Amino acid sequence: MPIQILPPRLANQIAAGEVVERPASVVKELVENSLDAGASKIEIELEKGGTKLIRIRDNGCGVAKEELQLALSRHATSKVTSLDDLEAIISLGFRGEALASISSVSRLTFSSCTAEQNEGWQACTEGRDMAVKVQPVAHPVGTSVEVADLFFNTPARRRFLRSEKTEFGHIEELVKRLALSHFEVHFSLKHNGKVVKNFRPALTLAQQEKRVAAICSNQFMQHALAIKAQHGDLALSGWIIEPQGARAQNDVQYCYVNGRMMRDKLINHAIRQAYADKLPSHLFAGFIIYIQVDPAEVDVNVHPAKHEVRFHQGRLVHDFILQTLNDALLNHEPREASEEDF
Ligand code: ADP
Ligand code: MG
Repeated sequence: MPIQILPPRLANQIAAGEVVERPASVVKELVENSLDAGASKIEIELEKGGTKLIRIRDNGCGVAKEELQLALSRHATSKVTSLDDLEAIISLGFRGEALASISSVSRLTFSSCTAEQNEGWQACTEGRDMAVKVQPVAHPVGTSVEVADLFFNTPARRRFLRSEKTEFGHIEELVKRLALSHFEVHFSLKHNGKVVKNFRPALTLAQQEKRVAAICSNQFMQHALAIKAQHGDLALSGWIIEPQGARAQNDVQYCYVNGRMMRDKLINHAIRQAYADKLPSHLFAGFIIYIQVDPAEVDVNVHPAKHEVRFHQGRLVHDFILQTLNDALLNHEPREASEEDF
């Protein structure tokens, strides 16, 4: 075969392989866009576990009519303009690929209105060259994205989708993780016409602990120790389980770095070490940990789905976590909360 430049849709479909694995990955990318747009309310609506329809509505800053076409193109982003920006990124997105990728493997409609416009505009992509059609639409300030029939044109990927229940389960777990990362945002989740989650903004510590209890169980919250520490530019906060509350199975293991959900070996290692002499080996510690670090001190461009980070000063971060957890575990007094508090 001669060498040819791939048509845009095919190039986007290939790129989609890296970020769009299942409905939950679409929800993740879209909600992260809403958070980057400064939304204080994000509504997620699904049909059939997201395989038939995913609709995300936000009250963020919106996209201007002139930029709608760009928003749906590959390598188009408002979040970085130089390598320097990338080295100190604060937004969740920066690759400028999600919308182009998702729209290449679904029927995507993007409706938006900015505060400066007096009407909303809607864009959808069509054809092999992904031409964008733009038309007026009634829409309040903010954005709605509708993703219908995910993978309708990529049967090999569609076959990998699991049952509605399984796909919904992945999204539900994701929404919990997102709700734990942005307490100030109102999140709601609707499935097949029924509201299944509704997390109102949680501003005070008491409201936040209530949200944590709703997401991670009352039992977790009853045994949780609040942690808070600062060391230079590095800050740590969250909740960790007191050793008496540890269980054989523990799915409360959430870690965020600068508001981004993470799985990180270094952090896990520090946590495990903190509990090493306080827990029998068959029990697992639950934790929700938020790390704030100077964005220039961490590299987030390690993996397309951005689950991993690399700290420039890994040892320092590790030891700071270990120290903070050690102090908390050493000094704690059992919580006096009763069932009715939650
Ligand atoms: P990235 O998030 O990496 O920039 P995306 O493909 O996800 O790439 O989005 C492209 C651009 O579209 C974003 O940079 C942003 O300017 C705009 N955008 C996408 N979703 C929203 C939204 N919900 N509200 C406002 N702007 C958005
Ligand atoms: Mg994005």
